[in-house]
Amino acid sequence: TTILAIESSCDDTGAAVCIDGEILSNIIASQKIHEQYGGVVPELASRAHMQNIVPVVDVALQKANVQLSQLDAVAFTQAPGLIGSLLVGAQFAKSLALSLQKPLITVHHMQAHVLANLIDEPRPSFPFLCLTVSGGHTQIVLCESPYDMKVIGETIDDAAGEAFDKSAKLLGLPYPGGPLIDKYAKEGNSTRYPFPEPNIPGLNFSFSGLKTSILYFLQAEKNKNNNFVEENLRDICASIQQRIVTILLNKLQKASKETGIKNVCIAGGVSANSGLRNGLTELGKRLGWQTFIPKFEYCTDNAGMIAITAYYKYLKKDFADITVSPTARAEW
Ligand code: ATP
Ligand code: FE
Repeated sequence: TTILAIESSCDDTGAAVCIDGEILSNIIASQKIHEQYGGVVPELASRAHMQNIVPVVDVALQKANVQLSQLDAVAFTQAPGLIGSLLVGAQFAKSLALSLQKPLITVHHMQAHVLANLIDEPRPSFPFLCLTVSGGHTQIVLCESPYDMKVIGETIDDAAGEAFDKSAKLLGLPYPGGPLIDKYAKEGNSTRYPFPEPNIPGLNFSFSGLKTSILYFLQAEKNKNNNFVEENLRDICASIQQRIVTILLNKLQKASKETGIKNVCIAGGVSANSGLRNGLTELGKRLGWQTFIPKFEYCTDNAGMIAITAYYKYLKKDFADITVSPTARAEW
């Protein structure tokens, strides 16, 4: 079974080819244009997708050494995401499926982030828990099978990636600031500034209070010393990262305890964070978990994860009608 998958939910245009569940190519064109605006500008993202999609698909097919005529299905991200961005991928995939007379498969972007864990060995066995931490989401997902996933905890305000990016912005770092906080944190003292941990019931998360406490803390310190941030950047970054990571891992530990599940994965762009990776590995050792983190290229937005999800849907002949439309929000 040969599947071409398209991802265009936000600001990265992706195409991947998968044969019988193996990813043969995973191409991504990232959009630089948004950096100067400090965030993704939806209209510019849609236009860049239109420019990128044909070349990205071409390269994905070439790299996999697959001809259009060999495809058995075309898959695309149907939701959630920026509607203008999703429309470009959807329109492309539908046109291609129609002209090739092949089935069309729709994929839920957040389910795909979870199933990215099934791409390479070692793969988690079912059931497993997945902490999905990205620019727009923070979720704990209970995954019983590729067809049975349930969100058991999620953020009630900002996502973890947003918490990183907004904190970075308060420190005067460029967008997206998450990777920069990670970089400076490596050389800092994470116990220097103990930011508060919110008290949120159940398995849900909140990051907006942390952002406010960082803002007030920086204002007060800058009043005393104008160069406070420059002089203490590494320790501030390490302390912020430490708090975000402990908020995430404490809830994950709670979820494991409540469900009795010890197969634990992470997914999404923030799973690139070294503090989170090390923290998960250490916690897992202490609690006897099997832990899994996808390769970096399958953590941030990518079409490989769309392709693997589509492969499982293909096995169940779960095809979409050609009249299907993308949606900005989506049920699970
Ligand atoms: P969503 O999937 O919710 O629609 P997204 O796909 O835009 O969001 P991703 O591409 O998965 O998000 O992740 C991007 C986020 O990951 C950004 O917020 C970025 O700052 C963060 N990020 C990437 N690398 C790191 C890192 N090393 N440390 C902390 N955060 C990071
Ligand atoms: Fe994503």
